[in-house]
Amino acid sequence: MRVVVDLTRCQGYGQCVFLAPDVFTMHEEALLYDLQPADERREHVLRAAAACPVQAIHLDRTASTPNDDREWAPVMEDGRIVIVGASLAGARAAEVLRREGFAGRLTMIGAEAGEPYDRPPLSKQVLTGQVPPEHTLLPRLREIDAEWLCGTPAAALDVAGKRVLLADGREVGFDRVLLATGTRARPWPDEAEAALEGVHTLRDARDAAALRRALGAGPRRVLILGGGFTGSEIASVCRELGLPVTLVERGPAPLHNAMGGVIGDVAAQLQREHGVDLRCGTTVTALEGDGGRLTGARLSDGSTIEADVAVVALGSVRNVEWLRDSGLAVGAWGVACDAGCRAVDSNGLVTDDVFVAGDIARFPHPLYEYQFMSLEHWGNAVAQAEVAAHNMVSDQAHRWPHLSVPVFWSSQFGVNIKSVGVPTFADEIVFAQGSRAERRFVAVYGYRGRITAAVTFDQAMWLEFYQRQIERAAPFPPDFRHVGGGADGGPVPARVPERLVATAGATVVVTGHDPAERRASLVHPG
Ligand SMILES: Cc1cc2nc3c(=O)[nH]c(=O)nc-3n(C[C@H](O)[C@H](O)[C@H](O)COP(=O)(O)OP(=O)(O)OC[C@H]3O[C@@H](n4cnc5c(N)ncnc54)[C@H](O)[C@@H]3O)c2cc1C
Ligand code: SF4
Repeated sequence: MRVVVDLTRCQGYGQCVFLAPDVFTMHEEALLYDLQPADERREHVLRAAAACPVQAIHLDRTASTPNDDREWAPVMEDGRIVIVGASLAGARAAEVLRREGFAGRLTMIGAEAGEPYDRPPLSKQVLTGQVPPEHTLLPRLREIDAEWLCGTPAAALDVAGKRVLLADGREVGFDRVLLATGTRARPWPDEAEAALEGVHTLRDARDAAALRRALGAGPRRVLILGGGFTGSEIASVCRELGLPVTLVERGPAPLHNAMGGVIGDVAAQLQREHGVDLRCGTTVTALEGDGGRLTGARLSDGSTIEADVAVVALGSVRNVEWLRDSGLAVGAWGVACDAGCRAVDSNGLVTDDVFVAGDIARFPHPLYEYQFMSLEHWGNAVAQAEVAAHNMVSDQAHRWPHLSVPVFWSSQFGVNIKSVGVPTFADEIVFAQGSRAERRFVAVYGYRGRITAAVTFDQAMWLEFYQRQIERAAPFPPDFRHVGGGADGGPVPARVPERLVATAGATVVVTGHDPAERRASLVHPG
């Protein structure tokens, strides 16, 4: 059987640990679990799922009949729907389409062979060796009656002709299509250096298996390029395995890009306390090798590092190349869509039959001044896929907006870090509960006098409270009579990074004079 816990919801109450101790365990405040427990444990896991106060435990429920929880008749019950990208967002959308009563042909197109799996464990339990990479398959919430075309990527989308073209020459027609091709790891820019044995990236199960083998071989030192969530989690695993590790980060602190300088400083202290050789404000200028094998790296401060494993954790690239000639608003930032997940074309017009969800989507969020945002969060992929699937089979009057407040979790150095809202959408931050010294606190972010985000270190139970505060645009700083804190000083500047601008984006040009003939088109560099 397969289990996945929505760790953005999990508040660490531990009922699951009590009811199914062979499957769930608590490490400090972080929940760890076996993603593929033996079938004999099913009864226990079912009891744990039922007892979980926030209903965070998902497991296969393929025995349930289609349409059993349908509350209304969809507008589109037959025809053909194609989903491109058969991972978290794609698989969740397929389940929701069937739940909503779509009985027509459903085709899943995926570049990866095999069943959809969960990625967050790849930088955590899989690297420590607690969970084998093949035990990360996503549970099925219901049987997905679909035709699976996996192992071949889509190569182009013909919106007017309603066809997806596959790389092997096949064509798949559709009435509606969902684009969910996610992201891939940004590679090291020098191809020869990237090809050195010992240089890794981490995005899929094969990457995780290869990195696990490399770490298990006991390298003399691991070099990590980039101090975002992935790089920091890998550094944490290395220390857990007793491996010497150097992390090189261009910014002033790890997690700075996602959470700003104040939390970045806490993350930097945490890493140093755990023995990470952290080099901030520094970049790797070259990876060096001997006989095709990595031996070390040169840094921008003139120093050199000897290492036999390097992990390039420099963020991600959106898988949009196949959409380049589709006429959609596509760029390095993803595929633009409206809040109902309908893709926007290059003129800025909303399309009727093309939908977008997950890491590839760029959507306006009303809570954040309608600014377009792209999120690489597990919770967003699931929530957006559900909205997209619902809207694909609904008429205008029954469509939903994707309004969920972003949530994210990470576990590193024994600390359970969670965030709600958009921490970079802030000008100030205040520690509302707990203390930085104990690494146990709630930090609240504000923008022009309202609460826009909160980050917790081992204080996950406060997340829901702050989600409600964000949803109702509660004043910042929070009223300390209600939250009982504020002891760690008053609001200070959040020191969030300037908005990151894609360097290789397309340029938009507008041609024509008459309103009937004016058109925008994207000019891609190169
Ligand atoms: C190592 C790691 C750790 C993470 N940890 C966390 C975490 O702790 N918390 C959190 O909130 N989030 C985490 N995430 C992010 C989370 O996993 C993603 O947000 C989520 O996987 C997004 O789902 P998706 O379906 O949109 O995209 P993906 O999961 O990227 O899936 C896209 C799929 O589309 C396929 N594809 C690409 N191009 C094509 C094509 N042309 N044709 C057909 N198929 C194609 C890809 O092969 C892939 O299978 C982590 C991600 C990684 C990689
Ligand atoms: S919130 Fe649910 S999943 Fe998380 S520890 Fe508690 S019972 Fe387990």
